[in-house]
Amino acid sequence: MVERVVIVGGSHAAVAVADDLRKHGFGGSITLLSEETTLPYQRPPLSKAYMSGEMSLERLKLRPEDWYRDQKIDAHLSTRVIGIDRQAKEVVTEDDARFGYDALVLATGAHARPLPAEIGGRLGNVHTMRDLPDADALMAKMADGKRLIVIGGGYIGLEAAAEASKKGMAVTVVEAAPRILQRVACRETADAFRALHEGHGVSVLENTQIARIAGNADGAAAAVELDDGTSLPCDLVVVGIGIVPNAALAEGAGLDVAVGISIDDRARTSDPAIFACGDCAIFPFNHMPTRLESVQNAHDQAGIVAANIMGHDKAYDPHPWFWSDQYDMKLQIAGFNRGYDRVVVRPGKREGSVSHFYFAGETFLAVDCLNDAATYAMSRKILADGKALTPDMVADETFDLRAFAK
Ligand SMILES: Cc1cc2nc3c(=O)[nH]c(=O)nc-3n(C[C@H](O)[C@H](O)[C@H](O)COP(=O)(O)OP(=O)(O)OC[C@H]3O[C@@H](n4cnc5c(N)ncnc54)[C@H](O)[C@@H]3O)c2cc1C
Repeated sequence: MVERVVIVGGSHAAVAVADDLRKHGFGGSITLLSEETTLPYQRPPLSKAYMSGEMSLERLKLRPEDWYRDQKIDAHLSTRVIGIDRQAKEVVTEDDARFGYDALVLATGAHARPLPAEIGGRLGNVHTMRDLPDADALMAKMADGKRLIVIGGGYIGLEAAAEASKKGMAVTVVEAAPRILQRVACRETADAFRALHEGHGVSVLENTQIARIAGNADGAAAAVELDDGTSLPCDLVVVGIGIVPNAALAEGAGLDVAVGISIDDRARTSDPAIFACGDCAIFPFNHMPTRLESVQNAHDQAGIVAANIMGHDKAYDPHPWFWSDQYDMKLQIAGFNRGYDRVVVRPGKREGSVSHFYFAGETFLAVDCLNDAATYAMSRKILADGKALTPDMVADETFDLRAFAK
């Protein structure tokens, strides 16, 4: 019988677990322990609308303060959990406070992968982008005419590049892989984003390794040196080279950890009283250990945690989706493109809109929709319904996708 739920974390997954528990009618205590100083907020706008100044801090928050009181969620901010006593079923905080649980949820997320200190990763003006203080610190230094170098051409790096470019900065993106978005998207999508950035004056250097960041006398970044000897002077550096799941707490407690906290399809860790969800968790998806870094996954997996705490024995069957906003381009992704071997390009109905469909053989896996919301909505439905969309159908521009999706 679960009467006390403790949730470690203070973001999308943590709040969604608390919310879903109450929606399921859970009447016991819910304690949320977050190391952050701010009430839980949305992370995606940090490199989009919040960074451009279009979204206020109030709107960024996932729930207003009243909500925690009304829902009887005991939220402790500035509270870092440093240990789990599995025998006593208690978590221990940095201040040596103890919170007892019947069910514990680890929603500890991830942190930005830093550039090693030996190559200048700790110099002043070298920033990563993961949380609100990161965004605020970066925004305070973004100014017209300054030179920004973004290391890493993934979504977060490219979003930061777009926001900086909109503010009038001279931006260079340096990507070590043969192309930007190499890990997450097809060549066609990367080509579209490269052209978009170059069209806004951003310089995109692919297949380019950095040697180090050189500092000035004040200990701030002054130039990014490439391994071919080129030196790129800069005022600001953003490092966007991926994330590292926060799994140390689980590891310290002797739970199974791979590249993330290992859970089963019920979101249970190797201790049946402890669940994990969101960016920190690695779970079986199509028979492969998988970690998804998205709001969709944080929310939907949190729903599975809440259902299983309530004894519903529900398995996670993810239907991934994701988005990115850069300049006036809205990318919407449905599905998961792992294992694709071909991409079919299909223009959308609106001018300039296009979608890139991923297939493994004849099996439809995923789609990147560029300013093509209609195709995105239809594709999500096709994927959810498991309909057999083929490459030939997509390649035929007269094929009625809408009718097929219905
Ligand atoms: C700049 C940016 C842009 C993004 N854009 C998109 C997007 O467009 N679309 C999309 O789908 N996803 C996007 N993401 C990813 C998305 O935000 C994450 O997938 C999501 O935040 C994961 O939620 P989470 O709750 O699992 O983890 P996190 O958001 O990482 O939250 C983990 C929380 O746990 C806290 N915590 C960790 N350890 C402890 C501890 N020991 N004690 C107490 N508290 C602890 C952390 O401080 C944090 O508050 C973006 C992320 C970033 C950073």
